[in-house]
Amino acid sequence: MSGSLASCSSVPETIVRQERGQREVFCGLTGIVWLHRKIQDAFFLVVGSRTCAHLIQSAAGVMIFAEPRFATAIIDERDLAGLADLDDELDRVVTRLIERRPDIRMLFLVGSCPSEVIKLDLSRAAQRLSKRMMPSVRVLSYSGSGIETTFTQGEDACLAALVADAPRASDQEPETLLVVGALADAVEDQFRRMFEQMGIKRLAFLPARHAAAMPAIGPNVKFLLAQPFLGDTAKALEAAGARHLPAAFPLGAEGTQLWMAAAAKAFGIRDNIFEETIANARRRAEASLQRYRSKLEGKSIFFFPDSQLEVPLARFLSRELGMVPVEIGTPYLHRRHLADELSLLPAGVSIVEGQDVERQLDRCREAAPDLSVCGLGLANPLEAEGFATKWSIELVFTPIQGFEQAGDLAELFARPLARRELLEV
Ligand code: SF4
Repeated sequence: MSGSLASCSSVPETIVRQERGQREVFCGLTGIVWLHRKIQDAFFLVVGSRTCAHLIQSAAGVMIFAEPRFATAIIDERDLAGLADLDDELDRVVTRLIERRPDIRMLFLVGSCPSEVIKLDLSRAAQRLSKRMMPSVRVLSYSGSGIETTFTQGEDACLAALVADAPRASDQEPETLLVVGALADAVEDQFRRMFEQMGIKRLAFLPARHAAAMPAIGPNVKFLLAQPFLGDTAKALEAAGARHLPAAFPLGAEGTQLWMAAAAKAFGIRDNIFEETIANARRRAEASLQRYRSKLEGKSIFFFPDSQLEVPLARFLSRELGMVPVEIGTPYLHRRHLADELSLLPAGVSIVEGQDVERQLDRCREAAPDLSVCGLGLANPLEAEGFATKWSIELVFTPIQGFEQAGDLAELFARPLARRELLEV
C-alpha cells in the first residue's frame, strides 16, 4: 500500500506561477445548490440583492419543488437610517419563515456582496435568532459573497460555520473517523460500508444529513478531507483539536485507494484486511477506466481555475487515463492539503494559482488543447472558437468520488471529445 505522504519538498518539480487579474468565477452562493440537498432539514436564506436571487434560481435550474429550501431576502439600497431597521426586518422574515416551515431544523443566513449586507452583522443576527428559536431551530451564518469567495468556497464557509457550532468532544471519547465534504448520499453509503467492513466502526460525515446528527469535534477526531477546497473548515477542525489525515483525494481508482489507505493506516487496520476490503471495488474501477483509456490517452487538457478540483483531476486524468495536462489553473492552491496530489503530477507541469483571464485565454489558444475545463462563462466563447470544453461546475454536481464512480468521472471527460468528433464527421 503506497499511502506515502509526500512532503512539500517534492513540490518544486512542478512549476507554480501566481497570476493576478480579472477572474471568471461564480460566487460562493452556488454551494447552496448542492448543500440544501445534502442537509435535508436545513434552509438557506440568502441576505442579498436581486442579482443573488437570480443567480441562485438559475444555478438551481427551474425549481419544481413545492417547498424549496432556499430563498433570498432582498435588501434594497437604503440610507443609514434605513439600515437600523434591517435587523428587525430580518427577524420578521425569519420568524415568518420558521412559522410557515416547521420542518426546518437548521437555518443558514448567507451573506453576499451588496454594501448594505456587508454592513449587517449576520453572525450577531444568527446568535440572536438562535437563542430565540432553540432548541427547535439552530441559526448559523456564513458568507457566500463573490468578493471573498469562489463557488466552492461557499461550502467551505458553510462547513466551517458548522464546526464552530458543533458540540465539543473530550479526549476520553473513542477515536472517530470524520469524512469532511458534501458527498452524494450514494457515495457516502459506499464509503461507510467499506470503512465499517475494514473495522472502522466510529465514523461520521460532515455535513451530516440532518441538523441533529452533526458530529461532536475534539481530539478524538481524525479527519479525511473529501474535497480539496475546505481550507477554513480544516483550520476550524484543527483548532478544536481534531487531526487531519493527509491524503490524495478520492478521485479515480488510485486516488480512492490512497485516500482510504490514509484512514486505514491511522486506525491501525492491517494491510491484508484493507486490501481484501477494497479489492473487488478497485478491480471494478480499473475495468471501467479501461473502457475510456483508449479514448482519452494522449489527449491534451487545459484547466481554467474554477472549482479547486483541478489538481486532483489532473492527477487522475494523467495517471489513470494517460491525458496530458498542459496547464492546471486553480483559484487557490492549498499546498499542505494538496501535497500528496502535487507529488503525483507529471514532472514540470505548469500550475497557475489565481487568474488573469485574458492572458490565460491567450495561452489556451496557443496550446490548442483537445479539451478545456472551465466555468460556464468561458465555455461558450471557447466552443465558438472551436475548442471542446467541459463545465467544471458539473464536476461538483455529479457524484464522482470513490471506486464505483471512477468510470462515470472518466466519461465526463470523454463525452465532450466524442461529441466534437461527431460534429466533425
Ligand atoms: S453574492 Fe455577490 S457575486 Fe454572488 S450573486 Fe450576489 S451580488 Fe453577485
